[in-house]
Amino acid sequence: MIYNTQTYKIKDEAMKPFIDSKEIHNFLENAKPTKKKVREIIAKSLNKNRLSLAETAILIKTKEPELIEEIKQGAKTLKNNVYGDRIVLFAPLYIGNLCTNNCQYCGFRISNKKQQRKTLNREEIHKEVKMLQDTGHKRLILVYGEHPRYSPKYIAETVKEVYKIKSGNGEIRRVNINAAPQTIEGFKIIKKSGIGTYQVFQETYHPETYLKVHKSGSKRNFNNRLTSLDRAQEALIDDVGIGVLFGLYDWKYEVLALIRHVNHFEKVYNVGPHTISFPRIQNASSLDIDEKYFVSDENFVKLVAILRLAVPYTGLILTAREPEKIRDEVLTYGVSQIDGGTNIQMSGYSKNNINNQNLDKEQFKISDTRSLEEIISELIDTDYLPSFCTACYRLGRTGEHFMEFSVPGFIKRYCEPNAMLTLAEYLEDYANDKIKEKGYKLIYKKIETGTIKNKSMFIKKLKKIKNGERDLYF
Ligand code: SAM
Ligand code: SF4
Repeated sequence: MIYNTQTYKIKDEAMKPFIDSKEIHNFLENAKPTKKKVREIIAKSLNKNRLSLAETAILIKTKEPELIEEIKQGAKTLKNNVYGDRIVLFAPLYIGNLCTNNCQYCGFRISNKKQQRKTLNREEIHKEVKMLQDTGHKRLILVYGEHPRYSPKYIAETVKEVYKIKSGNGEIRRVNINAAPQTIEGFKIIKKSGIGTYQVFQETYHPETYLKVHKSGSKRNFNNRLTSLDRAQEALIDDVGIGVLFGLYDWKYEVLALIRHVNHFEKVYNVGPHTISFPRIQNASSLDIDEKYFVSDENFVKLVAILRLAVPYTGLILTAREPEKIRDEVLTYGVSQIDGGTNIQMSGYSKNNINNQNLDKEQFKISDTRSLEEIISELIDTDYLPSFCTACYRLGRTGEHFMEFSVPGFIKRYCEPNAMLTLAEYLEDYANDKIKEKGYKLIYKKIETGTIKNKSMFIKKLKKIKNGERDLYF
């Protein structure tokens, strides 16, 4: 076992705020990129080593186009060498948009009177989940505003409800959460419902900016949010997701602060966060944000490549906030999970056509409006392997990204065959003839080229899936 999640002890430093903005600015000021240094840092990462703050700062400060291209190519090579071509698919499901906070960037904020408030009832949750299952989804992230109604008990109940819902061969096998920070007791209640990852984005790691954009409500407490995932760890939720909302402050500072947060987890818990998210601000109902720090496409692509190199073992999540073109480009530089067929309007999956977005009924505008079917078809065409795999989570193999990265042969033994088995399930249950044909072509090509370790066992399981069995994995 790589690390034992049951036995670690929260060390004294765990709950202490660990972001020092002066320290981060100093690293950036002192970083002086040269060709030699940049190349050495890329090589270090390709040798499967985590980068330090000083090294990451050098990549961040690199301006020469030739070297930026090398950073991007390095990220691409790392992704191909370590993870191969799998892309995990999920969908967000907004449970409720009541909110007592006042985040200037968010359509749900309490001062936005235009937002139409809604909390899905049991029947509505069933409708939405069935719609998602009928397109093939197996992994969801449930999203909640911050409101007394969305207590830990309520969140846990909605998670349990989602796991109960079945439609044909459809079922949700992993429910992740994006919701407000909780107390340790609260996290314990939620943990018992069987969640996967708990995400809390810091939004900005720059304390002054944080206060500027979080006008009122409990979210205004920077340190409470900063230490929230330590409390999650204390409650034994060890799959946690961190993130920055890019566009609030200087992207260079925020990338380095994300790495600082990773360092904190590694130091205290011996393992980094499960995932990193890097949303950019999108248009929203009554959006009230200065555009000064908005991140250009060019810098966005660069920062994703830098994150891939700096923390090679962590999952990187890219959402439908971004347009198709950027999503396709950034996939090559190390993203491991994307959403598909996303509709974030309240009750959107059952009631709303995605081409008819109403910002007063959703948190922000999404740009990639492709259906899950279209995304899967395009992934296959561009030689990616779409995956709905949830095996590690269900077998208690937490920290799977870390294992993929550090256990020799793990990907060939588990990840690749499991991705292919979940793709085969999708092809049998949801794909049209054209996608089915090219999907199986991809699977057989992979069998022939020796991508997987236990070929005969894999073929047996594949046959079983074709004969109607489901949920088979290594
Ligand atoms: N209420 C919870 C909280 O604040 O942690 C849930 C957060 S929200 C439903 C999920 C994330 O969406 C936020 O953490 C923020 O990063 C992001 N977000 C909010 N407004 C956005 C916007 N206008 N564009 C893009 N992302 C946005
Ligand atoms: Fe509420 Fe979260 Fe939106 Fe802030 S980001 S207004 S806390 S839903």
